Amino acid sequence: MSEQYVYNFGGGKADGRAEMKNLLGGKGANLAEMASLGIPVPAGFTITTEMCTVYYKMQRNYPAELKAQVAAGVASIEKVMGKKFNDTTDPLLLSVRSGARVSMPGMMDTVLNLGLNDTTVKAVAEASGSERFAYDSYRRFVQMYGDVVLDMKPESKEEEDPFEVIIHAKKKEAGVELDTDLSTEDLKDLVAKFKAIIKERKGIDFPEDPTEQLWGSINAVFGSWMGARAIKYRKLNAIPGDWGTAVNVQAMVFGNMGDDCATGVAFTRDPATGDNKFFGEYLVNAQGEDVVAGTRTPEPVNDASITSDGQTTLKSLMPEPYQVLEDIYLNLEKHYTDMQDIEFTIEKGKLWMLQTRAGKRTVQAALKIAVDMVEEKLIDTDTAVMRIEPAQLDQLLHPMFDKNAKKDAVVLGKGLPASPGAATGKVVFHADEAEEMAENDENVILVRIETSPEDIGGMNAAKGILTARGGRTSHAAVVARGMGKCCVAGCSDITIDYSKGQFTAAGKVIKAGDWISLDGTTGEVLDGQVKSIAPEISGHFATYMVWADAARTMKVRANADTPADAAKAVEMGAEGIGLCRTEHMFFEGDRIIAVREMILADDVDGRRKALAKLEPIQKEDFVGIFEAMGDRPVTIRLLDPPLHEFVPHEAENQQEMADQMGVSAAVIKEKVDSLHEFNPMLGHRGCRLGVTYPEIYEMQVRAIFNAAVECHKKGQKVVPEVMIPLVGTLNEYTVLRDMAVGVADAVKKETGVDFKYLIGTMIEIPRAALTADAIAAEAEFFSFGTNDLTQMAFGYSRDDAGNFLKIYVDEGILPADPFLTLDQEGVGQLVEMGIEKGRSARKDLKVGICGEHGGDPESVKFCHRSGMNYVSCSPFRIPIARLAAAQAAIEAK
Ligand code: PEP
Ligand code: MG
Repeated sequence: MSEQYVYNFGGGKADGRAEMKNLLGGKGANLAEMASLGIPVPAGFTITTEMCTVYYKMQRNYPAELKAQVAAGVASIEKVMGKKFNDTTDPLLLSVRSGARVSMPGMMDTVLNLGLNDTTVKAVAEASGSERFAYDSYRRFVQMYGDVVLDMKPESKEEEDPFEVIIHAKKKEAGVELDTDLSTEDLKDLVAKFKAIIKERKGIDFPEDPTEQLWGSINAVFGSWMGARAIKYRKLNAIPGDWGTAVNVQAMVFGNMGDDCATGVAFTRDPATGDNKFFGEYLVNAQGEDVVAGTRTPEPVNDASITSDGQTTLKSLMPEPYQVLEDIYLNLEKHYTDMQDIEFTIEKGKLWMLQTRAGKRTVQAALKIAVDMVEEKLIDTDTAVMRIEPAQLDQLLHPMFDKNAKKDAVVLGKGLPASPGAATGKVVFHADEAEEMAENDENVILVRIETSPEDIGGMNAAKGILTARGGRTSHAAVVARGMGKCCVAGCSDITIDYSKGQFTAAGKVIKAGDWISLDGTTGEVLDGQVKSIAPEISGHFATYMVWADAARTMKVRANADTPADAAKAVEMGAEGIGLCRTEHMFFEGDRIIAVREMILADDVDGRRKALAKLEPIQKEDFVGIFEAMGDRPVTIRLLDPPLHEFVPHEAENQQEMADQMGVSAAVIKEKVDSLHEFNPMLGHRGCRLGVTYPEIYEMQVRAIFNAAVECHKKGQKVVPEVMIPLVGTLNEYTVLRDMAVGVADAVKKETGVDFKYLIGTMIEIPRAALTADAIAAEAEFFSFGTNDLTQMAFGYSRDDAGNFLKIYVDEGILPADPFLTLDQEGVGQLVEMGIEKGRSARKDLKVGICGEHGGDPESVKFCHRSGMNYVSCSPFRIPIARLAAAQAAIEAK
């Protein structure tokens, strides 16, 4: 038997099922399922997505057997509907629609009212009792056929649809405003004129033969899969081109045959709130496209859907078909155990279902529906946990702009959505000004070409951060996410002039002190103050997270640098700290002065003197963090960034530092110049600093251990985890490990307190992953620093890649930004190898991740699969990571 390319449905039976979405597309699979459930759907057939692939392989031709299968499909529709295609008394008319695996709204083509010609139109007029209806359907068909099948649709905004031009002229001639006011004679004339323009433009006659019309339309729908719109949509939504679309050929039913007809769309529960109320809209005497076009205002289907006085519900207008609809929706929800988005048409009092699919919903609604459905015993908790995209939770964790207020705002530019949320404030260009203004209770947005660690205070004080340069792992982005602060990074639409205290964008000049608003979720920069609303975390969220945690096996820790961050992390459900970047503590208050003194010192003694000032402050920081974390583990990383990040680069600031230090500006400049490196990220940083200036790391580990001792004395048995960054060779690690052990022994001796601790390393240099067995023989834990690992595996600078990565992603050279979503194919191999080799040397090696990927759902799932013990991410992404980890565990069951 030849391959089956055509699947029939209708009359209570179907060849396909809901599970066959890959083969039949979403629409086709669900139509088949509804037909099998005995739900009235107009009979039809689906040509498979596989045929789409074959069609392109055969240079837009079909295998010979398709013809007979389509003919049999049409015969099957005729049988169920009791009408004949091309009949001269009561002809069957068809619709031809696309239907991919996932919905691609409006991206592909549709042809309706197929089967009409100069003969059948008369039969339709006779059978329907309305000549106007028949000719209106006919003119719509000829127009759609011309646009879609004969490719006469305008390509650009400037061009006009030739058919619309004719309609416009006709309305003018007839002295009417609406299409619906055109007479039957007008419509007949339109048909003639449409055919004439087809002949004129295309040199062919409009095909009168319905079978030819059908094949033309099937070709057009398959052809639209490779249309520019569809290709663009697939790229944006990461839909593979080889999935193909199915073609659904179905008997037409008409919602526009008179006042006993209607068409509508509905959701089985409220998609905005999740309330368990059937919710929908309909139009009397209309076709589906009229509801979508918005030219007439739809009415509510029932009382629960009423939005204003004086509306007429479908329930009151057509109680019988409404009752059928209600029975069907309840049946569908029970069957699919999910909220459905449905389309229906009522033709002369009989209800037909045209579509059902899982309805799109807000995250608030998704949570409520999931929790309600568990309570209603429709689904179990694991199913509920799988129902929400982890990234969607983000919307619950940040303030958002009021949708209506945002609509009216002027967009000044668009950058990368680096850290979500909404922020409104006055523009400031310097971090210290941001701090001053914030102290006076002013809301500010810090606007910088790019940020550096010295801006931390200002970033913390600002409501939001905007940078003109840098990618999603730029300093601004990473720090802002860590703070849960809204950030738009790399916005090249704005041009900043610090000297004039202004930036220009969209032809406007924005001065320091002017109000702007940032949408960190979309990357938009908006003029003026836009109203925002506080996040709503309902009780359902908490219930839902309990279920997620029950399913999860991998732990979730936080990247947190201060006691306040640590407290926030615990509130978000962190089970420990996976990365405390100690350098972030070096900027607060007067500490930076001591740090700079240390950098400026010419010898070890000078450095030790400056470090001695820092040590008690660091210790207090650690005590605060340990206290906030209770008995949860805390990993503290020793100093990582190159020293030049701690010194000022602008002359004015160098003078300020010189005054503070009591030296000349020239001395400062000379020191700053000497710290200059061509590739600082590959330069003197991480453990290389520890090896060359051991006194820095000594001070840090002493502060950590003394903090642990202090906690021990208060009864808290802290087990600090000391982490050495940027290790590439075993010797780098052992030298520093021995130093730390020596300090621990000394502290124990000095204080008489015995305490436990772990020493481990980051794996963020490819060589460390390659030699992980040797390193693990000495190191007690690994934490993958996938920011640096990605940088070094790809050879893309973290700081400069923003310039080309966007183009790479847009053009499909990379599937996603590898600094955001872990490149499982390449960098992932280094991670897997590192874990495998590491555990071959140390069976119980504790392994985690602390790069930005630790909060990205796809990457978190990869971490689960590769056997990590935990992921670590910024506090505001913890619920997302918890849910992703739970889903990974359920998927693996
Ligand atoms: C990393 O490289 O992934 C990491 C966490 O360290 P940082 O971003 O501080 O270099
Ligand atoms: Mg790193």
